[in-house]
Amino acid sequence: MEVRLNQLTKRYGNKLALAGVTLTWEEGVQGLLGPNGAGKTTLMRLLATLLTPTEGSAEIGGVSLTDKGRIRELIGYLPQDFSFYPGMTVGEAMDYLALLSGVGGKAERRRRIETLLEEVNLSAHRKTKVRALSGGMKRRLGIAQAMIHEPKLLIVDEPTAGLDPEERVRFRQLLARFAEGRIVLLSTHVVEDVESSCRRVTVLQNGQMPFTGEIGDLAEKARGRVWLAEMDRAEWAKADGRYPIVSAVAAGSAMKVRLLSEERPFADAQAAEPTMEDGYLCLVGKGGYLR
Ligand code: ADP
Repeated sequence: MEVRLNQLTKRYGNKLALAGVTLTWEEGVQGLLGPNGAGKTTLMRLLATLLTPTEGSAEIGGVSLTDKGRIRELIGYLPQDFSFYPGMTVGEAMDYLALLSGVGGKAERRRRIETLLEEVNLSAHRKTKVRALSGGMKRRLGIAQAMIHEPKLLIVDEPTAGLDPEERVRFRQLLARFAEGRIVLLSTHVVEDVESSCRRVTVLQNGQMPFTGEIGDLAEKARGRVWLAEMDRAEWAKADGRYPIVSAVAAGSAMKVRLLSEERPFADAQAAEPTMEDGYLCLVGKGGYLR
C-alpha cells in the first residue's frame, strides 16, 4: 500500500496553496509538518476528494484520486473541527455513521463498533451522550468513526490540538497501533507530535515541500549550524534578533541560548548535536534563510 503524489497542485483563485508536490508515502505514521497556512489542510482535503487538484495527480493504493467512489472506500478522514451528533449516545452515533459508510448487517456493525470502541478505550462510554465526552474522548471517538470502514489511509488533521499531555500520549499510541498495515497521515504544527510518533516526516511551507524523509535526516539539515551560548542579559539584549533562536532559558543572571548560525556566533559558543526541531527551523520560520 502506497500513496503517490505527482506534481499535486491546488490554487484558490490567485493563491497557490499547494505548489506541485511529488512524493511517495509507505505504510506507517507519516508526519505532515508545517506552520499555519503551509497547505497541510489543502493537501489532506485533496486526498479526501473534498477538493479537486488544479494540476497534477495522486494515487492511493494504485487508485487515482479522480475515482472518487473507490477513493472514499479507501480513506478515513478526521478533520480538525470534528464534531457530531451531540444528542446521541456514543453507541448510537457510531451505528449511524457505520450505516452511512455502508457497513451492512446489524451484527457486522455491532462487531466492528465493539472492536473499535475497545481500541479507542471508549467501551465504558457506549451509553454516554457525545456532548458529555471530554475533548480527548471526542478525538478518540473521531478516530473510531474515521476507522469504521477499515480504511487503508487514515488522515488526521491536527489531532492533538486541545488535548492535555496525557491524552496526547494515549492518542499517539492509538495512531501507532492503527498504522500497522496501513498509512496514517498526521498533520501538525507541533514538532514534538512528529518526533514522538513518526519515523518519516514531510515538511510543507508556503505550499512547497522543502523536505520529505526520515526524521533523523531532518535533524541532519541543522548539523554544524546549532550553537549553545551562555551570556549575561546585557549581551543577550544585543544578540537577540541577530540569530534565529531555538530556545533561551534564564539561569540566574545569565541566559542559556540555543541558536542557529552558519558560523560560530561568539568565541565561546559550543557546537551542539542537532535535533529534528533544529532541522525544521533551518527549513521554515525563524531560520528559513539557512535553507
Ligand atoms: P494549513 O492547513 O497548513 O494551515 P491551508 O491548507 O489551510 O494550510 O491553507 C494554505 C493556504 O491557502 C493559506 O494561505 C490559506 O489562507 C489559503 N486558503 C485555504 N483555503 C482557502 C480558500 N478556500 N480560499 C482561498 N485561500 C485559501
